[in-house]
Amino acid sequence: MLELNHVSARYNMLTSFVNAVDDVNFKVENDEIFGIAGESGCGKSTLLKVMYDLLNYPLEISGGFVRLYKGNSETDYVESGKLKDCWWKEISYVPQGAMHVMNPVANIENQFFDTVSRGYHVKMTKKQIREKVAAYLEDLELSPDVLKAYPHQLSGGMRQRVLIALATFLNPGVILADEPTTALDVVVQKDILTMLMSVQKRMMNSMVIVSHDMGVHYQVTKRMGIMYAGQMIEIGPTDEIFGNPKHPYTKMLIGALPKVGDNSQKEGIPGTPPSLKNPPDGCRFADRCKYAANECRNIRPRTVQVGEKHFAACLLLEQASGGSE
Ligand code: SF4
Ligand code: MG
Repeated sequence: MLELNHVSARYNMLTSFVNAVDDVNFKVENDEIFGIAGESGCGKSTLLKVMYDLLNYPLEISGGFVRLYKGNSETDYVESGKLKDCWWKEISYVPQGAMHVMNPVANIENQFFDTVSRGYHVKMTKKQIREKVAAYLEDLELSPDVLKAYPHQLSGGMRQRVLIALATFLNPGVILADEPTTALDVVVQKDILTMLMSVQKRMMNSMVIVSHDMGVHYQVTKRMGIMYAGQMIEIGPTDEIFGNPKHPYTKMLIGALPKVGDNSQKEGIPGTPPSLKNPPDGCRFADRCKYAANECRNIRPRTVQVGEKHFAACLLLEQASGGSE
């Protein structure tokens, strides 16, 4: 299980900061696929990097922490700053753009050897690794022929599948995937999603999928969060987010989705999110919200419960709930 506790992160541009993630709180439970949605630039990929402790300059945590619980333990955990010790074995990450992350001069078999050697505390001989990889590829319905191939010899979809195989090979409790289907054609997208779901089902681990594509969330996630301008503005079961969205931004996002049999022109959401260099004090959606009142510009909405496992941050909802958290 993974817990985010008031996590804030920023890009340190020396003379200024870009506050890409602001005070994000949530838990990813065991045995679930959790989605993070939002427009590009809303901070979702940054948040995923923070969840993996992939903090390369200029990205830094400016508040809070991520806590990774090992197995089902409530007391055995590792926090931000130390997550690297758990990479591959306890937590793994499938970054966006499979091509860039593979070693171009190593064949896939060697990439598996590397993965095992980087998975700290994993002791296996090359022969054992070879056998285990062959069995794992078979489980994932990948041909063993890929082992001899170099990344550039594989199609985009195949590279992505190999990358998922690499990331999940050591059976990590948490798998993070950034836009796993972006830039792939529709048929391949479906294969990738099917693969992710079957891996999760087999390993019963926690999976976090970042995607700007709401269709991906609809198809594979059980719970999801919506990010806007660096903040998590709504979080809840995926069927409720789609069927009963509460935050005005989520409502617009869902309302803008094409529906089967409806050929009417869908309007995008007018306007743009605020700059994250100097974000407003009040609600960050106020400039685009048709319900915005004066107070929305001054008061920062708190997150309130709006359903059984459903939370949202909007002053209107806060008033309706009597302001309880
Ligand atoms: Fe709209 Fe105000 Fe709610 Fe923000 S707080 S989403 S501006 S109603
Ligand atoms: Mg991104």
